[in-house]
Amino acid sequence: MKGGSFVALTDSVTVLPGVGPKRESALADLGITTIESLLTHFPFRYQDLRVKALNEIADQEQVTLKGIVAAPPTLARFGRKKSRLNFRLLIDQDVIPVTFFNQPWLKDSIEVEAPVMIYGRFDAARKQLNGIKILGNGKADPMASVYPSNAGIRQKTIQQLVTAAWEQYHDQIQNLIPAPIMRHYRLLDRAQMIHDMHFPKTLNAAQAARRTAKFEEFFRFQMQLQLLKRHDQTQAGTAINFDNSKLQAFIQTLPYELTDAQKRVVNEICADMKRPHRMNRLLQGDVGSGKTVVAAICMYAAITAGFQAALMAPTEILAEQHANNLQALFQDLPVNIVLLTGSTKTAARKQLLPRLADGEVNLIVGTHALIQDGVDYHKLGLVIVDEQHRFGVAQRQALRQKGDQPDVLAMTATPIPRTLAITSYGEMDISIIDELPAGRKPIATRWIKNAQIDSAVQFVLSELAAGHQAYVVTPLIEESEAVDMKNAQAIYERFSAYFAPHYQVGLLHGRMKNDEKDNVMSAFKDNQYQVLVATTVIEVGVDVKNATVMMIYDADHFGLAQLHQLRGRVGRSDQQSYCLLIADPKNKNGVDRMRVMTETNDGFVVSQKDLELRGAGDVFGKKQSGLPEFKVGDPIADITMLSVAQDEAKKLTETPHWQQDPDNASLVAYLKQAESNAYMFD
Ligand code: ADP
Ligand code: MG
Repeated sequence: MKGGSFVALTDSVTVLPGVGPKRESALADLGITTIESLLTHFPFRYQDLRVKALNEIADQEQVTLKGIVAAPPTLARFGRKKSRLNFRLLIDQDVIPVTFFNQPWLKDSIEVEAPVMIYGRFDAARKQLNGIKILGNGKADPMASVYPSNAGIRQKTIQQLVTAAWEQYHDQIQNLIPAPIMRHYRLLDRAQMIHDMHFPKTLNAAQAARRTAKFEEFFRFQMQLQLLKRHDQTQAGTAINFDNSKLQAFIQTLPYELTDAQKRVVNEICADMKRPHRMNRLLQGDVGSGKTVVAAICMYAAITAGFQAALMAPTEILAEQHANNLQALFQDLPVNIVLLTGSTKTAARKQLLPRLADGEVNLIVGTHALIQDGVDYHKLGLVIVDEQHRFGVAQRQALRQKGDQPDVLAMTATPIPRTLAITSYGEMDISIIDELPAGRKPIATRWIKNAQIDSAVQFVLSELAAGHQAYVVTPLIEESEAVDMKNAQAIYERFSAYFAPHYQVGLLHGRMKNDEKDNVMSAFKDNQYQVLVATTVIEVGVDVKNATVMMIYDADHFGLAQLHQLRGRVGRSDQQSYCLLIADPKNKNGVDRMRVMTETNDGFVVSQKDLELRGAGDVFGKKQSGLPEFKVGDPIADITMLSVAQDEAKKLTETPHWQQDPDNASLVAYLKQAESNAYMFD
């Protein structure tokens, strides 16, 4: 293995020309730190720059035309900024008029009788081209990759870096998938896959590469699950002998009666904790079904048995909310709760860690700060991971490694069918809360066209007048964070002006610092803001009972699961709540999603419809709640492949001495190195 294969690809991106501290941090925001992560930062779409024959082009299609400039260009200017550049392009027998608006400088690059390639929008009726850019003389790449990017780094820079990384490192790329599996499923070599993902000659080549990329991603994921499972099986777990009478007494103090479903899952989980094996259980329950109190009961059970419990949430807002709720629930009990997040001050942290290590603290709530080095536990018996799909396998594992074989309960708010749960979560046991607390009124959901938006705003106003609060959500557009912020900002300004001086409006977006976010969120909770304008950062778990309206802009940009999650932020009390979907969907799928939302409130029905509506159209979509997030693959659309990858991973890990087989060396090196799970190897 030349250069130790994987080792070279773990080089930092800073070895590439032009990557200084600023770019390094912009890249890190995109999850790119190493050459490997850069080379697997795949385009999410391709701009098709292929040259088409004139009669193949649809009206208003963006295409590349190649021809000869037939006569000198003419430039007309209107005022200071506007101009029109015209010339004629000879393509075989046809003469096509080409117009460039407001790019007068292009005049000099148009040479009479020279060949030229132009990318633009075609008017089929008039047979003319509205130019967008000149691609040169025919040597340009036929397809341009479009990458996920952010405000700190431009498309073009990413393209250049990928190209540079490819040039320097392509001969270091080794196959990760064992050869027999590659042959059986006709997968491409890893180097070819990476090449064709970034620089495909045709769309077909890109698709073939994507198929291999998906399989590899799924296979790596399933290998991790299998290793985790096999590791668990070799370890004895802890029997948590909780004090049932204390538990019953605690349940009596709750301000409400548990639903039958909550009682059932509490019994399942507690029985599992009592057994001397290692619990690994998934708790599914629709938004608002009351998972938090179930978590509280189970954590208290562990505490009565002399153990510590930890609750890990994906965001600081959520961790803080959990800590506050638990504080209230446990106020009269000998439970010492602390909160540990990325923004916990050093002094507080220094003071808290020893109390955790000596067992004085018996319940800790936090973000992934809980799994950092230096956070040591006295006797950790139960780990609960909230909205667990937000965490990678590696993070879930890291928390399990803390303490002495703690039991693990993972919670998720998106009900997913059992087959999907098994392929996505390995062999976890599953508990389901399939009932909402009594007295909830179904949320009334309306679909409103943009033209009627005033009526929606009027409606929000009437709810505010009734003393209630409202969320206003704008979608994230992956291509550019800058655009998102502008959207949210513009809407925030409009609403502020409209509702002033009676109602206050807050703004929450992903680019804000954590403590800024927390401030805004707690001001909303305290009703200092009556309206909260937000990008999807509020999607997860936030609980403000007085909020009765969820207004969602461009609702057709969201998937069903996400819409359902967002809607679940209201309807948390006995007040009638409303969800207003503002959308002019551009296709049938979008219309169908709006219909499903207006027709049902049931998370299981929504998730079933989600399955039905997904498919070929969504190849590049990858955000769905309740399931692990993959970069390329989609666990719903590609469920068959995910399940095949699972079978293969299972077979491989069951093969004696598979880790010593030289054919698997790159895979083993990869798994050991990339995912901080070296401890699982013999
Ligand atoms: P989720 O399952 O979405 O995490 P939460 O745990 O946040 O839901 O619960 C939603 C709301 O329902 C909370 O305000 C909680 O206090 C309340 N709740 C939970 N269980 C019950 C119950 N059995 N009866 C009435 N209200 C409940
Ligand atoms: Mg929750």
